[in-house]
Amino acid sequence: MTETSLPVPPARLTLDLDALVANRRTIAARVGGSVEVAGVVKADAYGIGLEPVARALLADGCRTFFVAHVGEGVELRAVLDAAHRPDTRIFVLNGLTPGNECAYPVHRLSPVLGSLPEIADWSAFRAETRAMVGAALHVDTGMNRHGLTLAEARAFAADARAVEAAGLVLVMSHLACADEPRHPLNALQLARFREIRALFPALPASLANSSGVFLGPDHHFDLVRPGIAVYGGAVVSGEPTPMRVVARLEARIVQIREVAAGETVGYGARETLRRPSRLALLSVGYADGFHRTGSSADGAPGTRGVLHGRVVPVVGRISMDLMAVDVTDVPQARRGDAIELIGEAVTIQAVAAWMGTIDYEVLTSLGRRYERIYRGG
Ligand SMILES: *Cc1c(COP(=O)(O)O)cnc(C)c1O
Repeated sequence: MTETSLPVPPARLTLDLDALVANRRTIAARVGGSVEVAGVVKADAYGIGLEPVARALLADGCRTFFVAHVGEGVELRAVLDAAHRPDTRIFVLNGLTPGNECAYPVHRLSPVLGSLPEIADWSAFRAETRAMVGAALHVDTGMNRHGLTLAEARAFAADARAVEAAGLVLVMSHLACADEPRHPLNALQLARFREIRALFPALPASLANSSGVFLGPDHHFDLVRPGIAVYGGAVVSGEPTPMRVVARLEARIVQIREVAAGETVGYGARETLRRPSRLALLSVGYADGFHRTGSSADGAPGTRGVLHGRVVPVVGRISMDLMAVDVTDVPQARRGDAIELIGEAVTIQAVAAWMGTIDYEVLTSLGRRYERIYRGG
C-alpha cells in the first residue's frame, strides 16, 4: 500500500482544474478572440500534472501546446491521441536533439529550431524522410538563451530555399524581463521582434509568455504562450497575481510537543526558543520539494503556514521528511489537524519569497509523495 492510498495521507495537494481553466480564460479575454492561446505544459505542466492539465486545456479549446523536452512531447501526444484530438500541435521548445529526429514525425512533434546547425539537420532530415511535420523558428531578441541571432535570422530569411526546406509554421521569440513592465529590454525586444516578423511575413508570430500578455496588445501577435499564470503564478514581479490559486498544499500534524524556553530545534540547533512553545511536526520536508531555504535560522524567519486562521511560522531547519511549526498561539491545535502550507492564505508567491526563489520553482518542485486530488476540469 502506498502512502497515497492510505485513508489519511500525511500531506495532500489539491489541484483545482476549474481555477486553471478560469485563468486561461482570463488570458484569452485579455488577448481577444483573434489571438490563439497556447498551453505551456513543460515539466509535467509546471508540476501540476501533464495529463489532467492537458485534458482540461483541451476541453477549453486549447489546440497548440508547448513542452520543453521531446520525451514530454511523446507523453503529451499519447494523452491527446487518447482524447481523439488529431487537430493539435505540439512544439518542443528545446528543439531538435541529434539522434531523436525520428520521434518528431512519429509523434507529430514540431521542434522549435534555435540555431543554424539545428535548422540544417532538420531540413536534411525532412528532405530525406519526406516528413511533413512543421517546425517553429526561434529568434533571440535579447535574452541570449535559445534562438538565432538577428544577423543569422536576416541571412536565413534571405535564402528562400532554406526557409522552404525547414517547413516553418511559426516564428517566435522570448522575453527576458516581461515580469518587470518598466524594464527597457521589453521595448528593445519588441522592436527587434517586429523586424523579425517582417522578415517572415507569411508566418504566424509569437512573443508573449504569461507576463508578456499583460504588457499589452502590441506584444500579443498571433499566438501567446502563457505558462505560470495559468497555474496561478504572478504576472508582475512583486505584485499580487490576478490569477486564481490552482495548487493547495496541506500537511497534517503528526505530533505536538511542548518544548521549554532556551531549547534549540532541529538540525544544526540554529533556532533557540524564546518562550515555552508548542511545536507541531508536519510530514513534509525538502524531499517533497519543500525547499530547505524556507527554514528559520538564527532568528531569521522562514516559511509560514496557516492553521485555524492563524499564522504558524516554521521553527528551525526543514529536514528531509519533517518540519516543525510553532502553534503556541493556536491552543486548539491537535494532532491530525491540517495546516495549509501553500494556497489561498499562504500564497505560492509568499512561499517562494520566504524560500528565496520564484513561484515557478516552488510549483515545479512539488513532491511526488503527496496525495494528489484533482478538482473540476
Ligand atoms: C516556459 C516558456 C514559456 C511560458 O513562460 P511563463 O513565464 O511560464 O508564462 C513561454 N515561452 C518559452 C520559450 C518558454 O520557455
